[in-house]
Amino acid sequence: MGIRDERTLGAMAQIPRQLFVPEELRELADADRPLPIGFGQTISQPYIVAFMTEELRLSGRERVLEIGTGSGYQTAILALLAQEVYSVEIVEQLSMQAAEILLGSMHLGNVHLRVGDGRSGWSERAPFERIIVTAAPASIPEPLVEQLAPGGRMVIPVGPDPAVQQLLLYCAGSEGVGTMTELLPVRFVPLRGDSPITT
Ligand code: SAH
Repeated sequence: MGIRDERTLGAMAQIPRQLFVPEELRELADADRPLPIGFGQTISQPYIVAFMTEELRLSGRERVLEIGTGSGYQTAILALLAQEVYSVEIVEQLSMQAAEILLGSMHLGNVHLRVGDGRSGWSERAPFERIIVTAAPASIPEPLVEQLAPGGRMVIPVGPDPAVQQLLLYCAGSEGVGTMTELLPVRFVPLRGDSPITT
């Protein structure tokens, strides 16, 4: 199951993952594995980042909602491939660290970050042609379905148990009826249901 989409591969090649990995783990930045980024969270495995990005089928004109900014690595790749990226993170410090890199160093003017519970999406900026979720809820949060534009695509890992998550592709129909496809068994951190965590 290699990644074929040239635009996805090009964006992956342009964004150095080491920028998003804690300093002491830099020598592992090129390994195809998730790595800890603090606060019990992980930067996703590059293969999964590429796979999810490819499944979004981005042409460059989309407004994308990302839930789980984390390190900001996936956000940076989306920023190269879409028109606007709106990314929500529940851990304030992670959002601030990502802002430093994405906005402070890389000057990605189409990246918009917010601290909050991504289960409610970002209603003020909806609808979105694409939604990508990088932490796993037990089922797809209803507000995300509501904020997906007609004909839009959402890629989301779903499963109550980390051992049995499925990466799902949800395609919104033009008249409110969506279709669901199972893409891949995956292992993500759980999507949290608390209010923002600041410690
Ligand atoms: N794409 C990120 C993945 C980080 S792991 C990367 O590759 O770096 C998942 C992220 O989702 C974590 O940063 C975690 O804090 C965040 N998260 C968990 N529950 C959340 C919620 N309810 N709303 C927003 N973000 C959440």
